Amino acid sequence: MGTVGNWIIVCGACALEWKRSGPLTDYEQLAMESRPCPACGSYTLCCQPLGPPTPRRRRFREYRFAT
Ligand SMILES: [Zn+2]
Repeated sequence: MGTVGNWIIVCGACALEWKRSGPLTDYEQLAMESRPCPACGSYTLCCQPLGPPTPRRRRFREYRFAT
C-alpha cells in the first residue's frame, strides 16, 4: 500500500522541507525517514502526503471565463 501523488518531506529540527512527487510506498517512506536531514544532519525527517492537487477544472473555468 502506498500513496500516489505529491508528498512533502519535513525536517523536524531545522524546518527544511521539500516536495516530491510520484508514488510513495511504505518502504520508501520508512527509508526516507531513516535518512539524515541533508541540511542539518538530524534524523528527524518526516514524510507527509500533500492533499489532492488543486482541481484543474477551476483553472479551466477561470480561463474560459477570461476568454
Ligand atoms: Zn534538518
